Amino acid sequence: MVLRILLKSPYRARTGYRLYAGIASILLVLYGLRIQFAFDTPFNETTLSHRYIFVYYMILMAEFVKFVTFIYLCFERLEYTLCQLALQDTLTQLPNRRAFVTQTTQRLEDDTAHALLLADLDNFKSINDVYGHLAGDQVLIAFSQHLQHIAQQVGALCARTGGEEFILLLSGDSVKRVQHIALQLRRQIEACQVRTEQGHIIRFTVSVGVATHRRHQPVTINQLFECADGALYEAKARGRNRIEFALTEHQAAPSSVAPMRATTSVPCEESNTDLPKRYLTRQSLT
Ligand code: GH3
Ligand code: MG
Ligand code: MG
Repeated sequence: MVLRILLKSPYRARTGYRLYAGIASILLVLYGLRIQFAFDTPFNETTLSHRYIFVYYMILMAEFVKFVTFIYLCFERLEYTLCQLALQDTLTQLPNRRAFVTQTTQRLEDDTAHALLLADLDNFKSINDVYGHLAGDQVLIAFSQHLQHIAQQVGALCARTGGEEFILLLSGDSVKRVQHIALQLRRQIEACQVRTEQGHIIRFTVSVGVATHRRHQPVTINQLFECADGALYEAKARGRNRIEFALTEHQAAPSSVAPMRATTSVPCEESNTDLPKRYLTRQSLT
């Protein structure tokens, strides 16, 4: 058990546990040596009773060390479970918003381009209304699996931020690649089918708002959220099952670039690569 703490503990970095386990191991070795020493002494009645007392004492100590180690392991497991509950969404097993913000804050400090995809399932309330809440949960799980798969493929961070809202943070990707990933997500979801326990097939769609940010410019997660939220709002307003792009407001060139909630929308083909700057301020991918 002591070795388990030293080698397998998910909190191996925690010096407290390691120190305790180290001391416990040394104590066990020392007591082992003393037992050996006790049996090496000449044999007579006094030494025999001493030996029994000593061995009994050793066993007691070993049990005590085992017990304390066990208590430590229980606390460690409890702490781990609490951390999981605080940082993970229980339905989809994705990180929650709190975990996402913690992870991304560090990532955003890197001098690289970032893009935040804010995805919201379309007319999700009616899925709940028609097929029931459990079927709605199945849809959420199916969506999160697609999102997580894409996130793993492209090395992005993803999370469930609310009821039927999810986010994905891409770092170091070109605008073209971000478009491709957003399209991949939208199309995979369009093609996805969820079979309910009653045998109904549910098809659903997603709208995505994308906030892109160029490197060499500091950006906060809130700025990206706000920007992606504006783009998502546009995607919903323009009919759902589509993707809208926006640059973070503070990096737009003041004279030529419209603010985030600009009304002009520029359709964009998948093959469109080096887009002019004005296209980047508001793009639609359908
Ligand atoms: P829109 O296309 O504009 O996004 O419409 P919508 O119906 O998706 O949006 P709305 O905000 O009206 O509805 C969201 C619904 O999501 C309402 C709520 O009951 C449901 N919801 C939130 N969390 C969960 C959940 O964990 N499970 C299930 N089944 N439903 C949830
Ligand atoms: Mg919705
Ligand atoms: Mg919503």
